[in-house]
Amino acid sequence: MGYAHAVSTIPHWARPLLACPSCKTALEPATWTDNAVLCAACAHRVDRVDGVLETLLNEHPAVAGERQAVNALDAGEVSLGDPVGSEAAAAAFHAHIEGSRRRLQDVLAAQPLEPGSIVVELGADACWASELFLDAGAKVIAVDISDHLRLAERGDDPNLLRMRADMNALPIVNGSVDVVWATAAAHHSWDLQNTFHEAARILRRDGRGRLSFCCEPMPSWLRYPFGLGVGHEERKLGIHETWVPRRAWLRKARRAGFDAHLDFPEIDNRFAAERLALRGVPKIVGKALNPLLKPILPWLQVSIHLHGRLVSPPPREARE
Ligand SMILES: [Zn+2]
Repeated sequence: MGYAHAVSTIPHWARPLLACPSCKTALEPATWTDNAVLCAACAHRVDRVDGVLETLLNEHPAVAGERQAVNALDAGEVSLGDPVGSEAAAAAFHAHIEGSRRRLQDVLAAQPLEPGSIVVELGADACWASELFLDAGAKVIAVDISDHLRLAERGDDPNLLRMRADMNALPIVNGSVDVVWATAAAHHSWDLQNTFHEAARILRRDGRGRLSFCCEPMPSWLRYPFGLGVGHEERKLGIHETWVPRRAWLRKARRAGFDAHLDFPEIDNRFAAERLALRGVPKIVGKALNPLLKPILPWLQVSIHLHGRLVSPPPREARE
């Protein structure tokens, strides 16, 4: 995997959507060159390096810590359990992405994106999910704090803007985008309530702005006590893993103005039996148990989706 060839300019469709990371005002009118933009209001300069707009400014300590941990993991200086770079670890990662991709395809089939809509993807990593939105005809602003943005295979797609930014301080103007999306990324936020407020701030205000946080760990009250150790290894390295109860996710989303509801991805029989087998339940018993478990499965599922439309005006305007 090498750095993808960079698109030659900052896409024109994205320019009116961008705010200055320093003074927070709309960047347009600004001075645009192929690899930089100069704020007309405060003369702050944002550079584009290897095709990625670098907007991180006065990094929050949690962001700096997580970014350094990801860099160290990538460089093989530290590891999480499996040896980094081993074929088994790579295969497991690939299987995980494939599983997540299928779940996102289910979400998009149930709630299709309108062609031309503008999606802001938080924690986009190497833009593997962004590709699904591009395929649906959307324009995508892919946000992440790590260097993985540079690995995007479709980095030169004119409908994709990659931007290094903090999901809690998005350099995007108020009421300007159609969809805010995250896949297993919002739970890395250093302030989840603020992340919902930021999403509400940048979403359109006509009742059609929507949010999807998919495959996020949202444990039920029943499951919550059994996962308090989750992410312990990651946290030791500086990665901001959190374990937030389902009710708190909903409360925070609603407080920011979303009509939030949960969505439970389908778990097929074989998968459920395999999960039980990992806990020492023989597969044949697991398969027999599954119909009995089905009604309580939502209480046990951790990785689920939260969707919401922005229905009431965000209580907090931009920090202007
Ligand atoms: Zn400025």
